[in-house]
Amino acid sequence: MREITLRPSPISATVDFSVDGIQHGFLRLPYSRDDSAWGSVMIPVTVVKNGEGPTALLTGGNHGDEYEGPIALFDLARKLKAEDVTGRVIIVPAMNYPAFLAGTRTSPIDKGNMNRSFPGAPDGTVTQKIADYFQRTLLPLADIVLDFHSGGKTLDFLPFCAAHILPNKAQEEKAFALVSAFGAPWSMKMLEIDAVGMYDTAAEEMGKVFVTTELGGGGTATARSARIAKMGVSNVLKAAGILNGPIDGAQTTWLDMPDGNCFSFAEDGGLIEPLVDLGDTAKSGQVVARIYPVGRAGAQPLEVHAKMDGILVARHFPGLVKSGDCVSVLATIVTG
Ligand code: ZN
Repeated sequence: MREITLRPSPISATVDFSVDGIQHGFLRLPYSRDDSAWGSVMIPVTVVKNGEGPTALLTGGNHGDEYEGPIALFDLARKLKAEDVTGRVIIVPAMNYPAFLAGTRTSPIDKGNMNRSFPGAPDGTVTQKIADYFQRTLLPLADIVLDFHSGGKTLDFLPFCAAHILPNKAQEEKAFALVSAFGAPWSMKMLEIDAVGMYDTAAEEMGKVFVTTELGGGGTATARSARIAKMGVSNVLKAAGILNGPIDGAQTTWLDMPDGNCFSFAEDGGLIEPLVDLGDTAKSGQVVARIYPVGRAGAQPLEVHAKMDGILVARHFPGLVKSGDCVSVLATIVTG
């Protein structure tokens, strides 16, 4: 088996995950470099444990330019009290910490995209070493996993919590129950463009109950999206039995991404004119955006068409688009 041949992780935690109480510390990853010969990457971590019960692993900053997760989790880490918890909560507000500090999707050290780096490698790049630590140390401790995402600098989303359709229907049902409890305005049965190497897939293959989010985007957060994130994490912990108290019953509308026709991509670069906004409906064949060539005036724009009926759940964010960029994502409203 793969595990037998792997060397130990170079990451050491300054907290003890088995001890009751609250500890704030670091996942310390040695990283020798020009400005720090025996230096380290110090990834903040909080563990709150009180007796026996389920473990929730909460992560933000998987992509470094997505902010609702870090906001909700830095906030939770300073407020959570051990006596409020039954079981254990492990909080890593900024999973790809070098990317988070740089404000970029991928790591400035190795260009590693954390969510394409699993299962990682203990002798790999910095990003692969972090992934390996989650794969072999943190995920095995968890019963439920909540990983926050948003659109980052290049996408913007309707705020939704999501889980995947899974072969194990009992696992899928538990995940969708947590999505419902999260209470975002929208809830998604999510289809991935490319599931290989994802944290999601690593957690799900271990049988963990995994939920994720897309809560906005554009490389920032709003008061509304931050509120949704903070309420959502509290609701998930209540639904898991880790926190007491009633779930803040926000109503949610369920969405489905039925197949690859939900995505439209730019076939050329240029200036993008959106014709449909987030939350608006579009019909199959409808032009959802125009892309103007900008080399000279008078040229006809390229039209980007919807390939199915649905509502717009994600859009390209910057005003200029490149060939191959994701322009729009549609989803269908689930009724009944
Ligand atoms: Zn992300």
